[in-house]
Amino acid sequence: MTEKYVYCFGPEGTDGDAGMRNLLGGKGANLAEMARLGLPVPAGFTITTEFCSAFFDQGGKFPESLKKEVAAALKQTERAMGMKYGDADNPLLLSSRSGARQSMPGMMETVLNVGLCTKTIPGLIEKSGNQRFVYDAYRRLITMYSDVVMEKAEDVEPQEGQGIRVQLEKIMDALKKAKGYKSDTDLTAEDLKQLCEDYKAKVKQVLGREFPDNPEDQLWGAVGAVFKSWNGRRAISYRRIEGIADGWGTACNVQSMVFGNMGNTSATGVAFSRNPATGENQFYGEWLIDAQGEDVVAGIRTPSPLNEQTKNEQNEHLTSLEQQWPDSYQELVAIRDNLEKHYTDMQDIEFTIQDGKLYMLQCRSGKRTGTAAVNMAMDMLAEGLIDETTAVMRVGADQLDELLHPIVDPEAEKTAQTFVSGLPAGPGGALGEIVFTSADAVAAEKAGRVCILVREETNPEDVEGMRAAEGILTARGGMTSHAALVARGWGKCCIVGAGELKIDAAAKTMSANGKTFKQGDTVTLNGTKGRVYGGALAMVDATENPRFKEFMTLVDKRRTLGVRTNADTPEDARVAREYGAEGIGLFRTEHMFYGAGTEEALFVLRKMIHAGSDEERNRAIDELEPFVKRDIKATLEAMDGLPVTVRLLDPPLHEFVPQSPSAQAELAKALGISGEEVKQRGADLHEVNPMMGHRGVRLGITYPYLTEMQIRAIIEAATELKNEGKDPHPEVMVPVTCALTELDFVKPIFDRVKAEVESQAGVAVDCLYGTMIEIPRACLLADRMAVTAEFFSFGTNDLTQMSFGFSRDDTGGFLPEYLDHGILEADPFQTIDQDGVGQLVQMAVEKGRATRSDLKIGICGEQGGDPASVDFCFKIGLDYVSCSPYRVPIARLAAAQSAIKAKK
Ligand code: PEP
Ligand code: MG
Repeated sequence: MTEKYVYCFGPEGTDGDAGMRNLLGGKGANLAEMARLGLPVPAGFTITTEFCSAFFDQGGKFPESLKKEVAAALKQTERAMGMKYGDADNPLLLSSRSGARQSMPGMMETVLNVGLCTKTIPGLIEKSGNQRFVYDAYRRLITMYSDVVMEKAEDVEPQEGQGIRVQLEKIMDALKKAKGYKSDTDLTAEDLKQLCEDYKAKVKQVLGREFPDNPEDQLWGAVGAVFKSWNGRRAISYRRIEGIADGWGTACNVQSMVFGNMGNTSATGVAFSRNPATGENQFYGEWLIDAQGEDVVAGIRTPSPLNEQTKNEQNEHLTSLEQQWPDSYQELVAIRDNLEKHYTDMQDIEFTIQDGKLYMLQCRSGKRTGTAAVNMAMDMLAEGLIDETTAVMRVGADQLDELLHPIVDPEAEKTAQTFVSGLPAGPGGALGEIVFTSADAVAAEKAGRVCILVREETNPEDVEGMRAAEGILTARGGMTSHAALVARGWGKCCIVGAGELKIDAAAKTMSANGKTFKQGDTVTLNGTKGRVYGGALAMVDATENPRFKEFMTLVDKRRTLGVRTNADTPEDARVAREYGAEGIGLFRTEHMFYGAGTEEALFVLRKMIHAGSDEERNRAIDELEPFVKRDIKATLEAMDGLPVTVRLLDPPLHEFVPQSPSAQAELAKALGISGEEVKQRGADLHEVNPMMGHRGVRLGITYPYLTEMQIRAIIEAATELKNEGKDPHPEVMVPVTCALTELDFVKPIFDRVKAEVESQAGVAVDCLYGTMIEIPRACLLADRMAVTAEFFSFGTNDLTQMSFGFSRDDTGGFLPEYLDHGILEADPFQTIDQDGVGQLVQMAVEKGRATRSDLKIGICGEQGGDPASVDFCFKIGLDYVSCSPYRVPIARLAAAQSAIKAKK
């Protein structure tokens, strides 16, 4: 039997349901589910995601078996709608839309009004009694079809601004101008009829082919283009950003057209069952009379609000659906309630009113900001719609990031003058220099500059720039415009529809209210209120959010994996504690020699490095101890009662060698040698491969007195704190080890110094002795390492570097291409490479615990704050992950979600 690729939905029978998202895509599965619920869904069918793969495997061809399935499904659709596709008297029109298992808003293609041609146009005019509507639908078909099917799907690469869509739009603009029309709705039936003829001539001229006039050709062209759009440039880059697998494919939904553009009794709209920006429990949406769906999201006309309750400064003068057609609005409200109860989640819906009759075109779980996700989860829990576990699962771990981001300081805002206002589409604050193209935003990010992307409106071509920008500002579009949807999905600060803004993209300026800003000028956005300010306003932290705290309490109830932080200053330790860190998993000693305020300590360290004899070096080491002790003590104190893993000095020493002539001269003076000699001693430290050179434990072995001093500083800091009534828990960690013998070399020093300090202080401290595991050999021999090590901490930065043989500081030259070509699915320095590095880690865990069953194991590489890596660490039984302070809540949530998933 051949595989079933086509699934019908509608009143004549529905094959699929919401559980079949992988096969039918999100849109297809939900259309099927809505049809099952008896909601007014125009009939149609879904061609599966599996066919998408088959389609590419077969070189973009449709097998006979599929054609048969489609013919049968089309018959069923025709029966349900009481119309016939391609019929001269009673023609059915179709839409062809993409829909992957995970939503990719605007990244793939849609063709509407498929089936309009010389044969069917008169019949539809007769039936609708509305010639204008028919020619308007036809000109939309020509525009979309020539763009999507004849140009993009055929890989035609027009020059910037020369795409067929733009060329056709220019013809329309010229006509409007010649006739003195302001809006598209001013075009008469005759105008549109002429426009369709001009469009077809242009298509022929530009693309060298006639616009297809046969319904059959149109349908297959539109279906093929939807599948091909899975491999379009935008879709591919979006998949890279979102980590969506290339092999999933999109489904294609072929559905009967219903029309929101049939005149003044028709309309179309999009809505969210709750406010997607704030989470507030209010029905929220936008609609337009006499329009098709694309008009609402394209931002060409400013849409009206759905109801009175959600009107805002920008749209309060417009008529709500509630006012205009209360019956349709109430019907929609009932459907909204029904869908929320059924799905127990916020739904994003699309509807059309055709000649007074309401149709549902789509529903899906709505994208929301992190703030909204937390608020909705807590509200739905209180409403009894969901349970605690579901509430914890409702917020994406990465979404929390956004709640931790700064907002514009309300005090600063009180006195600041608003440059321009728009709709609050993405929350939080952002400030940066303005850029006007996606390419400039990407370039700014690469150069390390923070930017705000300013566009008339965004389209899917802009995604990379939107990603690179700190905030997004558009002059047009509503809360459901492309910019708003994408920004919300990423939790990015965004303001849309700032109508007073005049953007001159060529001159790279924006103006409003008599003020002009040019590229590179700084502006501040308040995405929560929709206000734009010139210059840089102060920002404040958004951590004191009580809803967030309540949510995190639920999270911690379910979490079993510990979460620590990587911190080396008391300030970082305090921030991390506030975010729920349960200790420090990595205190990098060397950081006390970096940056402002460390000059003195660094100077002494340099004296040690440039010492001419052991004696001189040891004197410098003694001189260094108070600095080391002071910093460790302050951090131990900030983490009182919690463990602090202090790592012995790790980097190759040449990193600290003075480079500037003045610093060299100062050091020479202190050491009583010449500047030349200082330079020479620095040069002697040069290594070809310093990351695999004289660093980590190797320093501790060649300079045992350095090891001794550090251990003394740690234990003294702890005994002093103990004697002050505190509760310090230091752990000494030896870095970059690859042999038990290294650990055994350092251990007697540790034991001896610890005993000495304790007896002098008259107090004992708990202090574990352990090691970083960051060299593959250490993983292979983990059973031996655990003989002496009381804990392991995986340094997955170095472990990744040494497993792949990729220098961690030099991946910029090739990694982007590796990701583009799919050679690697993700950057292994951001998320653990579970296939390779993960195996080493897992093996080391098993081997280590085989030797020492109570071996404490954590991870302190950068990946420790990445949700997928946290999940991996949970699965292989680590005791904790350690990550940067701001990622602590993210790791906590990821860990709780792993525990919940494991229970299921
Ligand atoms: C590591 O290698 O993963 C690690 C945490 O140490 P560092 O990044 O300091 O080398
Ligand atoms: Mg390391």
